[in-house]
Amino acid sequence: MATSDTTDSGYSEEKRTKPLLVNGRYKNPWATWKEPSANFFFTMMKEKDYSKIPSKKQELDKHLPVQKPDFERLKTPPQSGVQATWIGHASVLVQFDGITLLTDPIFSDRCFMFQWIGPKRYRPPPCQVDELPILDAVVISHNHYDHLDHGSVVSLNKKFGETLWWYVPMGTRQWMLDCGCKNVVELSWWEEHKHSPNPDITFVLTPAQHWCKRTATDTNKALWGSWVVKGPQRKFFFAGDTGYCEGFKQIGNEYGPFDMAAIPVGAYAPRIAMKTQHVDPAEAILIHQDIKSQNSLGIHWGTFKLTYEFYLEPKTKLAEELRKSNLPEDCFVTITHGETRIFGK
Ligand code: ZN
Ligand code: ZN
Repeated sequence: MATSDTTDSGYSEEKRTKPLLVNGRYKNPWATWKEPSANFFFTMMKEKDYSKIPSKKQELDKHLPVQKPDFERLKTPPQSGVQATWIGHASVLVQFDGITLLTDPIFSDRCFMFQWIGPKRYRPPPCQVDELPILDAVVISHNHYDHLDHGSVVSLNKKFGETLWWYVPMGTRQWMLDCGCKNVVELSWWEEHKHSPNPDITFVLTPAQHWCKRTATDTNKALWGSWVVKGPQRKFFFAGDTGYCEGFKQIGNEYGPFDMAAIPVGAYAPRIAMKTQHVDPAEAILIHQDIKSQNSLGIHWGTFKLTYEFYLEPKTKLAEELRKSNLPEDCFVTITHGETRIFGK
């Protein structure tokens, strides 16, 4: 098998592209990446905000209902298929092949350093940490506040303690240990780890096109990524937070097809500021195709006010773009907060 080839743009496409590390900071290796402009805040100030998030709860309940998960279903997941429950934003409870895992958990009111400032959630979490079924693992895509939430990590660790395994990208392990987490596995892109309590399950950190930052001085000192979770019967993919890049074709070639994938569809406007770090629904569909996903769930929308697209547009645009791509409308869906659905049964 060829180990590399060249795309139309002339950009060399390694089979398994690795992240770059320069002076202790990670860099995207993708031709599609551009460093965020120094004028980022000025650009955001100039652009029009179309989000129009209703202030009335009634209106929000009508368009973005939040339902209590069916805890009985979560306690007894089906023998076949991948059962997924949307906890809001990029948090998804995923159950298959005897494992229960949670992606990028956030149950807090704000996704920021402090709970009195920063983006506030406009839809509540459908349940609390105490109500969750027994969790085996948590995967973290990167350290931005809407994906790695201190309060949620501490609560999950308090509830599940040593029985819970944390899978994180390089540079994030110490932060997790400082939170009191015991079993923390830190990986770089393409590194695989067999889940110790159940070696039939393998976790693999795979690429994404994104970046990291929690403080004024730690930009990109930790890595970002997506996750492949392979069981004996089923395979799940979690895209995390990402712009579109050639990494997804590599993931599809190495690990596809997937029974189910959770792919971001929101936080994409204005494109001038967001394109390299957040896909829009059309690009999310390209990821769905590149990784050879059989069923995808649109996440990273409808929860926090982060960007300027109309708050319901990720959902409607996803459906519109699927029609344009001549793909079946049920191959890439959004569900309501707290809803459980079985994919690939
Ligand atoms: Zn992010
Ligand atoms: Zn995000």
